[in-house]
Amino acid sequence: MPTVYVAGHNGLVGSAICRRLKRDGIEPLVADRATLDLTDQAAVRAWFESNAIDQVYFAAAKVGGILANSEFPADFINDNILMQSNVIDSAWRNGVKKLLFLGSSCIYPKFAEQPISEQSLLTGPLEPTNEWYAIAKIAGIKTCQAYRKQHDFDAISLMPTNLYGPGDNFDLRSSHVLPALLRKCHEALMNGDANFEVWGSGEPRREFLHVDDLADASVFLMDTYSAEEIINVGCGEDIRIRDLAECIKQVVGFTGELIFDSSKPDGTPRKRLDVGKLHELGWNSKISLGVGLKSTYEWFLNNVQRS
Ligand code: GDP
Repeated sequence: MPTVYVAGHNGLVGSAICRRLKRDGIEPLVADRATLDLTDQAAVRAWFESNAIDQVYFAAAKVGGILANSEFPADFINDNILMQSNVIDSAWRNGVKKLLFLGSSCIYPKFAEQPISEQSLLTGPLEPTNEWYAIAKIAGIKTCQAYRKQHDFDAISLMPTNLYGPGDNFDLRSSHVLPALLRKCHEALMNGDANFEVWGSGEPRREFLHVDDLADASVFLMDTYSAEEIINVGCGEDIRIRDLAECIKQVVGFTGELIFDSSKPDGTPRKRLDVGKLHELGWNSKISLGVGLKSTYEWFLNNVQRS
C-alpha cells in the first residue's frame, strides 16, 4: 500500500477523499492546522522529510462563496499560493511519486464558451468576484506543469465544478449557493416564514457535483492519469439558480415563495464544464442532484442544525 498524504483533510473535499481511500483500505496520513501550518515553508519541508510519502492529494485551500471572495482578497490569493507552493516543492524534493492538485472551475474566463473545455484556460478575463482565488489556482496548475517539465515530477491537476455534500460550509456569509439555500429554506420552514431570499436574479446557471463523486474521480485519476494537461471534473449538466432553489424547496418540504435580492452579485452567468476528456478516460459521475441534495440536507440536520 502506498503512503498517502491528504492535505486539507478537514475540508469538504479532503474529508471526502479520506473516506474514499479508507474504502480501499488506505489509512491516509493527515495533519491538522495546529500540527502543520501549510503556509510555513520550513514546517512543510520538515513534515515531508520526516514522512516517506508516496502520493499527495492537495485539497487544502482557503475557499469561500461569492461574498467571502470579495471581502478577503488578500487571504484568498496569499494563503492559497503559499500552501500550494510549499506542498508541491517539498513533495518533489522528498521523492513523492505522484501529486494531485485540485483547482476550480473559476480559473476559466468569465465568458468562456460553454461547456468550458480545458483549452479555454487563459483565453480571456476572469470573473472579478473571485479572481484572487482563481489566480492562485492558476498559479498552482502552472507550478505543477513547471515541476513536470523541469524535474519530471508527476503532478496532475483536476478542475472540479461547484461542489457540495456532507461537510459543506453552511455559514451564510461565506458559503456557496447550494448549502446557503438549503439552510435558508430550512430556517424559513422552521420559522413559518412565507418566503426565503435568493441572492441575485436567480438566472445564472451552475453545475453541481457531489463531493463523493469528486473523491472517486480523484482516486481514479491518481491511479490512471499522468500528463500535464488539466482535467475538468463535473457531471456535465447545469441548472438555473432559481430552479435549484425550487428543488431545494421540495427536498426541505417548504411551500412558500422565493424572493430575489438584486443588490447581491450574480457572478459569472454560466459555468458548465466540458467533461468529454474525463469520460474518454473512463469516469462518469454517479450521484444525481436529487439524491445528493437529500443526503446533504440530512447531514445538515444531523450535524449543523443540532450543533
Ligand atoms: P460562484 O459559483 O463562484 O459564483 O459562487 P456561489 O456559489 O457563491 O454563487 C453562485 C450563484 O448563486 C451566484 O449567482 C449567487 O448570487 C447565487 N446565490 C443565490 N443565493 C445565494 C446565497 O444565499 N449564497 C450564495 N453564496 N450565492 C447565492
